[in-house]
Amino acid sequence: LADRDGVIWLDGALVPWREARLHVLSHGLHYGGSVFEGERAYDGRVFKLHEHSARLVASAREMGYALPWSAAELDAATREVVAAAGLTDGYVRPVAWRGGDTLRLVAPDSRVHVAVAAWPWPRIFTDGPRGIRLHTARWRRPAPDTAPVRAKTAAQYALGSLAGQEAEAAGRDDALLLDHRGRLAEATGANLFLVLDGALHTPPPECVLDGITRRTVIALARDLDLTVVERHLAPAELERATEVFLTGTAYEVQPVTAVDAREYPLGEVGTALAEAYTRTVRGGTGDTSDTTGTGDTT
Ligand code: PMP
Repeated sequence: LADRDGVIWLDGALVPWREARLHVLSHGLHYGGSVFEGERAYDGRVFKLHEHSARLVASAREMGYALPWSAAELDAATREVVAAAGLTDGYVRPVAWRGGDTLRLVAPDSRVHVAVAAWPWPRIFTDGPRGIRLHTARWRRPAPDTAPVRAKTAAQYALGSLAGQEAEAAGRDDALLLDHRGRLAEATGANLFLVLDGALHTPPPECVLDGITRRTVIALARDLDLTVVERHLAPAELERATEVFLTGTAYEVQPVTAVDAREYPLGEVGTALAEAYTRTVRGGTGDTSDTTGTGDTT
């Protein structure tokens, strides 16, 4: 990924892709002093751009630092990168990190850098809309008073990376993490939904990331007159679920066809929501509540 043509927005300017480097003695590299976002462009427009930029700013604040750019400035930087890349459909990765001014653990004055990269990346799981198979990880999402679970910080993703490796070693596509109390939490990069008696059930965003796709899908489900219940879910409820799916920027609405030994069909609720989501991200129908109010057309 580092060796390619193109440009990356770095600290206020577009630089050649290969030259967007950081120093090895960066706080962000040693102590998890970094926050990031995962965004997707559809037809040249980043879906929910402002919500992602605002979450990046909030994640940094949660981790004790202020970004040198506002959410609106990050929106503009992102549009600039997407336009420079000539990107229609692809992935966008904004990242902010504490720099190399000091390796003190407590580094309130270290410079905070920001980069935004964008590249074509049509699907996370390459086989189209088939379901994916999950493996319940032995790693658990920590309690909100054990880790800054609301922040999308690199510090959190060592856990997801370990859980994902374990799942792949078990021949599965992704991991399902439980929370610190053993309740259902989320996948490595997506929120979890179960269909129980025709209604959607999903864990509240306490120990899991407050996903932007999650919020979009909840709104779409209510538009389709589906009942949505946000509550804690026990693993035993997987036995009763008639469908399971994940939501995330990269995953979109991703059906799950197995959790450990339990199998699920590609069901009609997940299919209806996946179709509604596709229409929405492509700007067709449904949720158009972009908080900038100006749309994200680059
Ligand atoms: N949970 C985790 C751990 C994630 O990394 C992501 C991806 N950002 C999500 C959930 C889904 O969030 P979103 O819908 O905002 O992409």
